[in-house]
Amino acid sequence: MIAYEEIAGMLKAVEKHRDNKPYLLKGNSFSLYFFTNENGGRNAEYPFPNDVQAYTSTNGYYGNMKTEMLLNADKNPYDFRPTLQHELVHYYDQNAKTNDGYSSYWGVGGAFFSREGAAEYGCYNYYQYPKNTKNDLPLTWPKDKKSILEYAKQQGGYRTPLLSQTDFRSFGDIYNASNNNYGMTYSLYWYLVQEYGEAKIQEYITYVNNKYEPNQSIPQEEKDSVAMKFLGKKEEQVLKEWLTYFNNFK
Ligand SMILES: [Zn+2]
Repeated sequence: MIAYEEIAGMLKAVEKHRDNKPYLLKGNSFSLYFFTNENGGRNAEYPFPNDVQAYTSTNGYYGNMKTEMLLNADKNPYDFRPTLQHELVHYYDQNAKTNDGYSSYWGVGGAFFSREGAAEYGCYNYYQYPKNTKNDLPLTWPKDKKSILEYAKQQGGYRTPLLSQTDFRSFGDIYNASNNNYGMTYSLYWYLVQEYGEAKIQEYITYVNNKYEPNQSIPQEEKDSVAMKFLGKKEEQVLKEWLTYFNNFK
């Protein structure tokens, strides 16, 4: 398993972009399981549906994070390293001490923007995947405007428009409008990093997560003033510019 040999390098790559060292927390554990499912199908010990090659779950909270990955190693049709790296970014972010205020702040899509966007950005921009010399599995590695747009289309299944609506007020709004398309939250996070730098975006998200409690309601004017403080613009304006940059994802 190629990623197994590289995992120390992948962890170090995330650590260059985060302040915390979750593995030093008392009581913390990080469990990563690779299952194989040589028999395939629904009768194996850890059965996958026939059309699913891999499954990852990330559960836990500050100081007690657990990530489990089920990987149908024999039948995987693509290079799995970015998916692993995505989960490693979660491991750091979910073990950072915050209030998890993003859900009250950005709504139902709050984590989709702040957590999944960050993990997608991290898995395609932190680590330089060495050439896979073990097999010919294709490596998805979107890192510029054109390849990110293609990635979003691929994630969306090429069937329907990438966005069901474009009248946004909040970064969390893209969750429903994109039907939970990870390529779309990556495109937004990547765009923000290009425009404002990663440190600023991390600072903004961390500020929100630390300042607000999950169950409080926050007036729109306050969200606008926080966005002004970190980005110099309201979210609504940033989102308009993101749409323009990506030609409205047409
Ligand atoms: Zn994720």
